[in-house]
Amino acid sequence: MKLTYQPFQLELKHPFSIAKFTRTATPLMLLKLEYEGFAGYGEASMVPYYHENPETAEAFLQKTDLSRFHYPFNITEILAYLDDLAPGNTNIKAAIDIAFHDLIGKIEQKPCYQLFGSDPEKMPVSSFTLGIDSPEMMIKKAAEAADFKVIKIKLGKNNDEEIIRAIRSVTDVPLYVDVNQGWTDRQQSLDKIFWLQEQGVQLIEQPMDKNDIDGNAWLTENSPVVIIGDEAVQRFEDVKKAHGVYHGINVKLMKAAGMYEGHRMILRAKELGLKVLIGCMSESSCATLAAAALAPLCDWADLDGPFLTKNNPYQNPGFANGKYVLKEASGLGLRSVDGLLL
Ligand code: MG
Repeated sequence: MKLTYQPFQLELKHPFSIAKFTRTATPLMLLKLEYEGFAGYGEASMVPYYHENPETAEAFLQKTDLSRFHYPFNITEILAYLDDLAPGNTNIKAAIDIAFHDLIGKIEQKPCYQLFGSDPEKMPVSSFTLGIDSPEMMIKKAAEAADFKVIKIKLGKNNDEEIIRAIRSVTDVPLYVDVNQGWTDRQQSLDKIFWLQEQGVQLIEQPMDKNDIDGNAWLTENSPVVIIGDEAVQRFEDVKKAHGVYHGINVKLMKAAGMYEGHRMILRAKELGLKVLIGCMSESSCATLAAAALAPLCDWADLDGPFLTKNNPYQNPGFANGKYVLKEASGLGLRSVDGLLL
């Protein structure tokens, strides 16, 4: 098996702000995994708060020796080997995992969603995220979300109500809210949640600091709106810790080190009675199609990555009526834009 890689700077259409960060571009590492005439593609998206970058990704890839594996089908063994190489590095591990699943799908002539028993007919609508901005800019961005049936809004600074009122002046679509740990007082948070419910907010992500377990659990117990843990839930072993603290979890492949563990997290969450939102980072079509393959197994999807970027190196995925349309093509169903693929 031959693994090659290429750094890529994914430019965003607008500067993207959440409660604690702003960025205009996101570094990616694009992978190509070749085996007996087949090629699988993978992608790492390295947003700053998960502490990976092209240098750490390259260092990890240089340590990775796939020559010890004779074929790509022993995926559990390969992923265990990657986890043994170094703790963390989940972004680049996810890229390798995605490339393997794309490759296996192509060899077996099955779409990735079939590898996971996921039914495209059950695809949930996907939300479109608006980063924190002035109310005027958020109104402008909301107009760009016309194809989406749900808008997700980043809150957690000091103008939450102003932002919601601005959005509500231009659209009636249901809203998801992501606070990214931005709220600090539990009673004020609960008061705000009751108000947000009146504004048509259907779920709220990570309202308070991920380490404030009692605060988040208290909010979940008292909230009339679904509360989702995101920053608090990274990998499989975190799922059980979310039980009793949140109504549900946000699974992202870049946190979960890829599709294999992301799928296990979804199943474990369901066993525990937790709801599941599948989300993404700033991503091209590659990692987003990998998440979309699992999205029919989830309650909600927040997979807008390719639609927030200016220079997606792949064609945008199929999208209609607010949902991803998964093709019958083998693997991820990824299509290149001429000249930009590896
Ligand atoms: Mg979030």
